[in-house]
Amino acid sequence: MFKEYIRDFSFHRLRGELEEFTKNFSLCVWSVKLVFFPYIFLRHLFLLRRARVEFDHLETVLTTKCSLNCRNCANLMQYYKEGFSFPPEEVIKDVKDLLALTDHVNEFGIIGGEPFLHPSVADVAEILCGSKKIKSVIIVTNGTIIPERKIMERLAKCRNLEVQISNYNHIAHVRTNEVYQAFLNAGVNVKIITYAWRAYHFSPPKGKSVQELEATFRKCLKCNELFDGAIHFCPTSSNGMKCGFVPHRAEDYCSIRLDGTKKQYWERKYALASFLKNTTWICACDQC
Ligand code: SF4
Repeated sequence: MFKEYIRDFSFHRLRGELEEFTKNFSLCVWSVKLVFFPYIFLRHLFLLRRARVEFDHLETVLTTKCSLNCRNCANLMQYYKEGFSFPPEEVIKDVKDLLALTDHVNEFGIIGGEPFLHPSVADVAEILCGSKKIKSVIIVTNGTIIPERKIMERLAKCRNLEVQISNYNHIAHVRTNEVYQAFLNAGVNVKIITYAWRAYHFSPPKGKSVQELEATFRKCLKCNELFDGAIHFCPTSSNGMKCGFVPHRAEDYCSIRLDGTKKQYWERKYALASFLKNTTWICACDQC
């Protein structure tokens, strides 16, 4: 056959054969592309959807220090013998890392202790208010501190920010109205909120079965908290682990700290999405 080919060989024929081959080859490439590209596209969409991270409500704790030290604090600050503040650079990096991993937050709260005792409160508010992923930002304060003018000016420029002053007017030395007026005069969006007082504390473990733990978890609204570089479902979990009242179980929280590599970013994003969607109970539910 090869001999016959050599005998009949002509450059004219070779050119024809090459043209035929490239025509078929490009047809072949196009049919592969037609199947392959939609597959890649759909797979990409599927993976992005699986990794989507959304919060209805989320809050970040800047400090456990407080200027009031209530006996039955809703955020369980009464269990810290000595309050502490997370380092400013750590707080800012954690918020930025979490924002990188998150697709949407309806309401993002900046809390403490008393958040105006932390030097980075305005930095955090600016970062959050500057993100299109966040619909609204609130700072929850006990209304005992009037921040300095520079901080007020920065807060006044933050879009979607509301400072919420918990109404503790009934406590003798608390000057809620004066603090409210100071925010208002500085042009900060501010509101006084009167909560029905409820006493919060750690209950001893109840020894619930897994089914009971799951039922408690299902009924819970879950405030979602960024605490010390990890997402917890609630303050009972975050503060309970920190103070040693709740068992430390790795499945009960999800780290959000990023090292800057693409690989770790996607691992963290999938882990966070799965943590939020697939967790059915945490140890803290036994004390809730
Ligand atoms: S301990 Fe469980 S049920 Fe209680 S607030 Fe936290 S997540 Fe919800």
